[in-house]
Amino acid sequence: MSASAAAQDSVYAELARSGCRMTAQRKLIVAEFARLRRYVTPQQLHRRLAQRRAGIGLATVYRTLDVLERVGAATREPREHGEASYLFCAPAHHHHAVCTRCGTVDDVPCGQAESFARSLSQRLRFQVRRHRLEFYGVCRRCS
Ligand SMILES: [Zn+2]
Ligand SMILES: [Zn+2]
Ligand SMILES: [Zn+2]
Repeated sequence: MSASAAAQDSVYAELARSGCRMTAQRKLIVAEFARLRRYVTPQQLHRRLAQRRAGIGLATVYRTLDVLERVGAATREPREHGEASYLFCAPAHHHHAVCTRCGTVDDVPCGQAESFARSLSQRLRFQVRRHRLEFYGVCRRCS
């Protein structure tokens, strides 16, 4: 089983736990969303799905992305102008390396960010509850 398939399975389990029915359409949405590995707006994802002629409505895409975000399986990036975009995320904590050329997002393990957050907590007497890190650069395939 690929890492992405394993991630999808854990997402399905998470969705089922939160009372969300995993219909065939929802599974298609999640599979396509996971495969893209980039930030997409609901409209963009809907356009991709329309090419497959599965008859999935835009409202279903919005709802599914919303539920995915709520269960921690999608990261939402608000935009000042226009729609927010979403990225498929495995529920386990991790970070992102974003390619500024092709837009591909690779997962990065947390590594030393955890101890950095701990030292910040001590130095600044600021209780870090969670953190988010994104690295921007050029990926292997584009360089
Ligand atoms: Zn992620
Ligand atoms: Zn790239
Ligand atoms: Zn981290």
